[in-house]
Amino acid sequence: MRGLNLQSFVLGLLRLGPLSDMQKILVTNDDGIHSPGIVALAEALEVIGDVTVVAPAHEMSAASRSLTLARPLRVDRIDDRHFAVDGTPADCVTLAMNLIFDGDAPVLVVSGINKGGNLGEDVTYSGTVAGALEASVYGLPGIAVSLVQRINFDFAAAAQFAVELSRLVLDDGLPQGTVLNVNVPPGPVQGVRVTRQGSKIIRPNVTTGTDPRQRKYYWIGEESLTWNEEIGTDYEALGQGLVSITPLHSDLTDHRTLERLKSLGWQTALEPLSK
Ligand code: MN
Repeated sequence: MRGLNLQSFVLGLLRLGPLSDMQKILVTNDDGIHSPGIVALAEALEVIGDVTVVAPAHEMSAASRSLTLARPLRVDRIDDRHFAVDGTPADCVTLAMNLIFDGDAPVLVVSGINKGGNLGEDVTYSGTVAGALEASVYGLPGIAVSLVQRINFDFAAAAQFAVELSRLVLDDGLPQGTVLNVNVPPGPVQGVRVTRQGSKIIRPNVTTGTDPRQRKYYWIGEESLTWNEEIGTDYEALGQGLVSITPLHSDLTDHRTLERLKSLGWQTALEPLSK
């Protein structure tokens, strides 16, 4: 209840009835179950539902939507509401939906709160976004929440925002396959923008070093960031101190190029190969 006002708590009760009948909400992340971001998120969402946390035992940032297939998974049941999985965010949602909820399915999956932004093309690397996307497999709405901050994380505002947005999603619904990618600026929130995915200019870099046994190692990092703050993008919103909400879809089809490839006659050109 910390950081939540009485009015929103009472409204939540009125809307959803007695606590025992509350809707179930699945919370996951990619920073690991012990990250303060997921603790703040789960605690805040208790106002609108029964929260179960199923999250990676260790950090799985940039795991994207990978599933662990080459080895079995282990689940560490911490208590009735907290399960640590030695896998990815998508593994966590898969085990939650098939095993842990055991037929009594949640109505919403919220992933985060990530330590750091998931903006532009980073959404395709993001385990946080993937956790929300995996919800679409089960016909559930998903929300990914990230705090665009590098140090001194304060998750209070982002957690409160996640609650209010979850209410809207539960009331109004989302189309099948759609998730909301939410990025919250550091410091006081100046407003909210519904945005499109922007793009970064600088690419990852690789640091080379030598380990104590004289073997070379390579560590993927990122150069100091620059990005396109084009109008209407997630980056522009964050640059203005606004919360960015980008709807993403599991259908990655590039519809403009689809039409162009058709008009270029590629189908006809390649047709003779299919004898
Ligand atoms: Mn992360």
